Amino acid sequence: MVNRVTTRFAPSPTGHLHVGNIRTALFNWLFSRRHNGCFILRLDDTDAERSKREFETTIMEDLNWLGLTYDNHHRQSARLSRYQEMFNKLKNDKRVYPCYETAEELALMRQKLRAAGKPPIYNRSALNLSQPERQKLEMQGRSPHWRFLLSETDISWKDSIRGEVRFPRNSFSDPVLLRADGMPLYTFTSVIDDADLNVTHVIRGEDHVANTAVQLELFAAISASKPSFAHHALLTGPNGEALSKRLGTSSIKDLRDQGFQPLALTSMLATLGSSQDTSLLSNLSELITAFSLDNLGRAPVQFDVTTLERINTRLIQEMPFSKAQPLLQELNLNAVDEEFWLAIRANINTLTDTTIWWDVCYGSIEPLIEESLFTASAARLLPNDRWNSTTWKTWTKAVSNATGRKGQALFQPLRLALTGRDQGPEMKNLLPLIEPKRARARLHGHTA
Ligand code: GLU
Repeated sequence: MVNRVTTRFAPSPTGHLHVGNIRTALFNWLFSRRHNGCFILRLDDTDAERSKREFETTIMEDLNWLGLTYDNHHRQSARLSRYQEMFNKLKNDKRVYPCYETAEELALMRQKLRAAGKPPIYNRSALNLSQPERQKLEMQGRSPHWRFLLSETDISWKDSIRGEVRFPRNSFSDPVLLRADGMPLYTFTSVIDDADLNVTHVIRGEDHVANTAVQLELFAAISASKPSFAHHALLTGPNGEALSKRLGTSSIKDLRDQGFQPLALTSMLATLGSSQDTSLLSNLSELITAFSLDNLGRAPVQFDVTTLERINTRLIQEMPFSKAQPLLQELNLNAVDEEFWLAIRANINTLTDTTIWWDVCYGSIEPLIEESLFTASAARLLPNDRWNSTTWKTWTKAVSNATGRKGQALFQPLRLALTGRDQGPEMKNLLPLIEPKRARARLHGHTA
């Protein structure tokens, strides 16, 4: 039987997700949807001190907001007895051994190895302890942590992005699976979960390549079938710097609060660093159809907020009112109607910018007056009949006739006075939305 394609996104709930984390989630989601598979959210929360429910909630909110629906979710802290059970199996099979070194002793050992120009690999000294020696250490109050005994063979796999990956034998320290306080560690829990949940494809950042090497041995040790692995290049900041959860600027929550469209983010992340053209992608289904691991390369990929702004702007400027209305309502802009939306959408970068033009049309702004005599005389020429899309033309023609002004010298002072800005939507569309009384007051230099 061929297993249903199953992927997972496995964040630790120790901070807010940033664009790099979401890129990994997106790849896994797109891959599973592309193959009519299953997508699992797994919360790696065995670090009880740093994991917080509050972060779990935002992780789920972020995924929902982006439309990255998951078919089920699991929490590692709820599976501790299962890890213990599998640990006991490895213990019976003599694949784990107790070690008694303290963190300081280990650090010293690594330091010495480095000083001698050797790789800092654990020397397995605990493996040679006799039973009485172990007992003696335990009597002194030392509790053991447990390491997994790696085999003496080279490790290799065919990575779906990196191709053939090979590590010669003895490249790694035997990984610690259980801490001295009995808490299982990620290297181990991740393998048990991937095996139990029938994960078929693990797509994650290249910072996990070494983990994969040791985890492949763990899959074999518990007689589980191995998923296939794909390690993508990491997303960096604009100068190649590592993104971090602490870099508030690229957290998904912040981008959401700044009014970016979820589709702008997913389109950008799906296509950054590949040859695909984002302008072809206008919904998540198109992203699914276009997705292939073959499009992902090994070169580092840079995230620059201006790319996101560009894609976001395009999405908004093309957005029909029916789609914009519910989003504007979420921003408490309930009164926005289609005429206003169509007049301003080409001049905003994010939906929250709508308020700028809302204030220009219906709220209060401070006019920018450079030539008060000119704007005051223009005010007196404003037509009295009901304003429509021809009013701007009729009025500016009359002002031109009266003052002899043309082009920028004619239009710009009027725009500055009426909108308080030097750029914006076409005045022929904006003027009819501004109440005549308010327009007159602004042309006379009053805040209105
Ligand atoms: N919790 C791990 C991380 O956030 C999961 C890595 C993985 O196995 O995908 O890096």
